[in-house]
Amino acid sequence: MKNFYQMSPEETKVYFKVQDVGLTKEQVRESIEKHGENKLEEVKSVHPMVVFLSQFKDFLVWILLVAAIVSAVMGKLESTLVIIAVLILNAILGTVQHVKAEQSLKSLKALSSPSAKVMREGQIMEIPSAEVVVGDILIVDAGDFIAADGRLIESSSLQLNESALTGESVSVDKMIEPIHKEHVALGDQVNMLFSSSYVTYGRGKAVITAVGTQSEIGRIATLLKSAKEKSTPLQRNLDQFGKKLALFIIMISALVFGLSMYRGTGVMDSMMFAISLAVAAIPEALSSIVTIVLALGTRKLADQNAIIRKLHSVESLGSVSIICSDKTGTLTQNKMKVQHIYTDGELVDVAAIDKEDKLHYKLVMAGLLCSDAVTTEDKRIGDPTEIALVDLGENLHLDELVVRESIPRLSELPFDSDRKLMTTLQHIDGEAIVFTKGAIDVLLKRSKFIETKDGVRPIEEADIIAYEKINHSLSDQGLRVLAFAWRKVDESTLTLEHEDEMILFGLVAMMDPPREESAAAVEDCIKAGIKPIMITGDHKITASAIARQIGILRDGDMAYEGAEIEDLTEAELIQLVPSVSVYARVSPEHKIRIVSAWQSLGHIVAMTGDGVNDAPALKQADIGIAMGITGTEVAKDAASMVLTDDNFSTIVKAINNGRSIYDNIKNAVKFLLSGNTAGILAVLYASVVGLQAPFAPVHLLFINLLTDSLPAIAIGVEPAHGQLMKRKPRDASKPILDRAFGIEVLLEGIVIATVTMTAYYLGLNQGGHGVAMTMAFATLSLSRLVHGINCRMDEPLTFKTLFMNPFTYLALILGIVLLGSVLLLKPLQGIFEISPLSISQLTSIGILSLVPLVVVQLGKHVQKSLLHK
Ligand code: ATP
Repeated sequence: MKNFYQMSPEETKVYFKVQDVGLTKEQVRESIEKHGENKLEEVKSVHPMVVFLSQFKDFLVWILLVAAIVSAVMGKLESTLVIIAVLILNAILGTVQHVKAEQSLKSLKALSSPSAKVMREGQIMEIPSAEVVVGDILIVDAGDFIAADGRLIESSSLQLNESALTGESVSVDKMIEPIHKEHVALGDQVNMLFSSSYVTYGRGKAVITAVGTQSEIGRIATLLKSAKEKSTPLQRNLDQFGKKLALFIIMISALVFGLSMYRGTGVMDSMMFAISLAVAAIPEALSSIVTIVLALGTRKLADQNAIIRKLHSVESLGSVSIICSDKTGTLTQNKMKVQHIYTDGELVDVAAIDKEDKLHYKLVMAGLLCSDAVTTEDKRIGDPTEIALVDLGENLHLDELVVRESIPRLSELPFDSDRKLMTTLQHIDGEAIVFTKGAIDVLLKRSKFIETKDGVRPIEEADIIAYEKINHSLSDQGLRVLAFAWRKVDESTLTLEHEDEMILFGLVAMMDPPREESAAAVEDCIKAGIKPIMITGDHKITASAIARQIGILRDGDMAYEGAEIEDLTEAELIQLVPSVSVYARVSPEHKIRIVSAWQSLGHIVAMTGDGVNDAPALKQADIGIAMGITGTEVAKDAASMVLTDDNFSTIVKAINNGRSIYDNIKNAVKFLLSGNTAGILAVLYASVVGLQAPFAPVHLLFINLLTDSLPAIAIGVEPAHGQLMKRKPRDASKPILDRAFGIEVLLEGIVIATVTMTAYYLGLNQGGHGVAMTMAFATLSLSRLVHGINCRMDEPLTFKTLFMNPFTYLALILGIVLLGSVLLLKPLQGIFEISPLSISQLTSIGILSLVPLVVVQLGKHVQKSLLHK
């Protein structure tokens, strides 16, 4: 058998028994049976048992095992069993959380999995890449990833980047002619498409020849082991903190052990002291809380149309201070409607277009021939600019499909945002005629002639001035102006030179109104200390008009064109960017420079993009945002977030959520650390003043592992509240655990430790050490649960925010039920070393536990009023 690259397109189609209309449903099923699905072997997720066992690697576990042994030696066998039981329970909980978080992230990934366009039963359809089968007719455009290997059967200026496969980063020109050679290297098989490469230019069609593991990339097994999700800076930060803390704890525990021994306490009792301290101090829930909150947060973002592709970006999202946004479709509705046309010095409304007028007719026809939007059964699909042109044709009862069938396209130069032009070639009345449409500034430079009612003549300075003047006045109304030109050629294949020496013959002006929510979202941004910037391929005057309408371009702000920043040095650009809020006629390279300039000024930059050329800028930005609807697969792949509704206001919402997720993590961490600090301080105090250990290890274990995780998770899901977007963006270079945070943790720890030791003394006076320990344990446990309400937000609670997060109350109630069972149920009392308490003792515990809530809230009020002074 011949290789596919040796076959002609026809032979390939015959080989796979596929027609131009694509496979039938039946053929698709047969193909899956015969060749399998387009799936690479998935990276196996870690087995839950492994996750379970890895929970025992923790430092805390080792300490607790020592505690279990010490308890056994001291004859407290029940304690030993409880410690072991709690350890196993904790490992089970840890495993469940881990698996859940992983599943949630996996399903989010599936949301942003790539798709492909295929022709089946005469219909173009977009399907998940995994559903492409051998024999399918794949249709590719600039920015598409190739879903499987295929033999090219149609190509129009098609170029591919095959670096994933060949390592060569320069794009390869593709063609359809067979190659009559044996043993052709992959890089030279220029009529083949390979999975995982992507289209950088042009478009084409191919018959799929191999899918899944049969494809070239599928055979390179090592590439499949896709990288594991790296831990985020926040997770790393906290892990490092945890390690340092562990070291510190060992030192302090050793000190406490020494102190007890020096005082003459027995070895076992001194050991118990040291172990209690260690158990109290280790914040075991810390890193799992971060993972859970991040996973829950990304799920919520996805519900609000922002899909996070890279977990660490959730953290930077909250510190974004610059949003560079596209105009068309993101700030505007992307529903273009032609308002006026202009030919030979006359501007007419769309209603006054006259089919009998030669230039009017030519303009409308050129709009139909030189565009790709099509009418399907129920709607028009394609680029909105071109849909507007098809709508215009309909006004004159011209059907784009009929027109394109009677005057077929012979060759084309597809639109790209660098050239800002699109050109097609067709035979009209026996002559090869080229139509070009595109940006007026570009076409004016490329036109040597002009067509008026009197015919074609060389273009003069006065014509250029007239065109520029009308363009200016239309653009000033926020209209997008598209220029049209034509020429004759001799060849039947287009090259870029055919876009020179054109005959300019008219303009079409269309309206793309701003989205209703844009202005409000821009205002929210500005209030939140975030600067919104418009970066568009559109004309400067149009862009400025729209930017002014929605509040991006304000008094004193400037609008620049891409060309104007081209010659600026890095330093000059850095100086310029703070005063510019609109960049027009920008090419993708300019975007990278603008992002870098802002980054040099210390800002965290979010940047939107959709085209294949936007990928480098999306990667350069701290948060690259790809458009879900209009964006290319390559842009989505490079982005850290994908907007499923392409809407600017979604970015603002996502930033709000990013701020809230970061706050929630910080608050949950504060909750855990302040509680632990209270435990440490109480034990340290007892050790220093020569009391007996105020808690047994099981007590601290109970608090740290059972009652503490519930409020921490509840704090993690605190909804975003109004204050968030009134703050300035967080300084990304500041660590989460800064000085102010440390001081708060310490102060709150002191308050809780004080009430705990008060309870201890009360108990000691009323019933001896056993009762004292029970009271200290119950007070520490309950006051930490109640303190969960304090930790929900930095601001003091108000009536409005008090009940905003029902989960905190649920966690509180559950915690109280757990604590109550241990305190009141006889069998549990024995296991948890509990002495029975009287009603008045229980009441004291209740009252003491409310003290931290009152003190901390008062403190927040005082702090707030001081800040406002
Ligand atoms: P954004 O604001 O998202 O950058 P844009 O549509 O304004 O979007 P581009 O798509 O890069 O930016 O378009 C730049 C210019 O190219 C437009 O102002 C218009 O003059 C021209 N143009 C746009 N679409 C087409 C098209 N389909 N064919 C020919 N020219 C086009």
